[in-house]
Amino acid sequence: MSEGIFDKLAPLKASYEGLRELSPRNPFGVVIERPLSATVGLIEGRETLLFGTNNYLGLSQSEAARDAAIETVREMGIGTTGSRIANGTFSLHDRLERRLAEVFHRRHAMIFSTGYQANLGTISALVNKDDILFLDADSHASIYDGARLSGAQVIRFRHNDPADLDRRLERTKNAPGARLIVVEGIYSMTGNIAPLKDFADVKKKHGAALMVDEAHSFGVLGEHGRGVAEMQGCEKDVDFIVGTFSKSLGTVGGYCVTDHDEIDLMRLCSRPYMFTASLPPEIIASTLTTLDEIQSRPELRRQLHENAARLHAGFRKAGLKTGDFISPVIAVTLEDVPQALKFWNALLEAGIYVNLSLPPATPDNRPLLRCSVMAAHTAEQIDQTVDSFARIARELGITAA
Ligand code: PMP
Repeated sequence: MSEGIFDKLAPLKASYEGLRELSPRNPFGVVIERPLSATVGLIEGRETLLFGTNNYLGLSQSEAARDAAIETVREMGIGTTGSRIANGTFSLHDRLERRLAEVFHRRHAMIFSTGYQANLGTISALVNKDDILFLDADSHASIYDGARLSGAQVIRFRHNDPADLDRRLERTKNAPGARLIVVEGIYSMTGNIAPLKDFADVKKKHGAALMVDEAHSFGVLGEHGRGVAEMQGCEKDVDFIVGTFSKSLGTVGGYCVTDHDEIDLMRLCSRPYMFTASLPPEIIASTLTTLDEIQSRPELRRQLHENAARLHAGFRKAGLKTGDFISPVIAVTLEDVPQALKFWNALLEAGIYVNLSLPPATPDNRPLLRCSVMAAHTAEQIDQTVDSFARIARELGITAA
């Protein structure tokens, strides 16, 4: 074996071991022994409230989607064993693409094996080394990785700041290549919502293209659940919407929808689309079913917003630091990593699972206890979670006793 092959991992080893000294359990190694329902899972043998699953509408446990998956496995087997451009397109894949296009009122849809690949595959098919990407500073890792794969020049603008984007576009107005702006609908760490209509105005002013990752907002925001673009009335100005099946839709996979007919050419140059196996048929069948449920059960969205408002108000009342947006992602900001580790462990011991998000993956390099709310949470489950947060914050001296 080549000497030094693992040398570059030494700094990671040191910081990981530092974390482990402060935490009785591995914060990156939580095992859900099994989900008991959408909102409760068995962790360390204990029934634990799930407040960090992105399963906003609880549809990962949909009866109808489970039945569709089982029936499809029986009929078609468990996998496609091939790429979409070879043997990996079944009529189900075509059907889901047509259905997604219909749901978004777009001409075309393209599905990927994960949401991560949807960002990589869309960005890298649209821009190359001669072009410029304008990325919100708080963009998800999959957007940054897509930028790298594309080879385009990257210009970051201040988070949620259309005026800053405007200035940066102005400075590059004579650049010869294409210019693509990428933002998210709801930001995954903080729950911040993009001022998308303002971004769309800036895009029009400069003749750029606009792509929005609605991973956390599809099924969640907008009268019909089409996300922030629908909510803010600017869908026609968004060129590409990217999203995932792994959150409100409860399965796995990703997509890009657009009115641009060039999508069929994108299928022939998008490496994360071409050089990987397509989604198995049972995943497509269950996603078709949860997509229908999102359409036919608007009450889920209403309940989700009620629940998000309840959790947000509870945290605020307890004196905890949260963002200003009421969205299904609600993060409590803490001061330092040792405090965050103590807090997160104490929550698990109290039977509550939330996501622990640590720097450098967080905005402002502050640790976050990231909660995601579900339509399926009961008022009692939310109140129990708020009470546990409030008690632990007092015990750790974060809020006044
Ligand atoms: N975009 C955003 C904003 C995300 O938060 C995530 C997942 N956390 C993804 C894309 C990737 O989605 P997936 O998990 O389906 O790969």
